Amino acid sequence: MDDCIFCKIANGEIPSTFLYEDDLVCAFRDLNPQAPTHVLVVPKAHYANIVDGVPAETLAAMVKAVDSVATQEGIRDTGFRVIANTGKDAGQTVHHLHWHVIGGTNMGERLA
Ligand code: 5GP
Ligand code: ZN
Repeated sequence: MDDCIFCKIANGEIPSTFLYEDDLVCAFRDLNPQAPTHVLVVPKAHYANIVDGVPAETLAAMVKAVDSVATQEGIRDTGFRVIANTGKDAGQTVHHLHWHVIGGTNMGERLA
């Protein structure tokens, strides 16, 4: 999609370092990290959010990317969060589906 920052990162138009990449997804560090680990898992195809008809195969690839990122970052066993901000009330600012993988610190029990 034109003028979508995550499309441009995913298709290589904006050079980025990927922690994980396969045919369907990529993962790269958030520009403005909120925790010691803050990585975005992003499908290469454009979906506005998690309820935009994302194929099961793509969701499975995203889970595989989360596993790889958590392993690389050493937080697979200590724990981490996966967050998909969806829409206005969740504060979604980039309207290309992405999962935040956040960890490396104790985040407590409060979610919102
Ligand atoms: P949202 O609020 O939409 O769930 O989060 C969007 C996230 O994308 C934010 O955490 C923001 O820091 C990150 N972000 C926005 N633009 C860029 C960019 O150009 N590169 C990277 N790596 N992250 C970005
Ligand atoms: Zn996009």
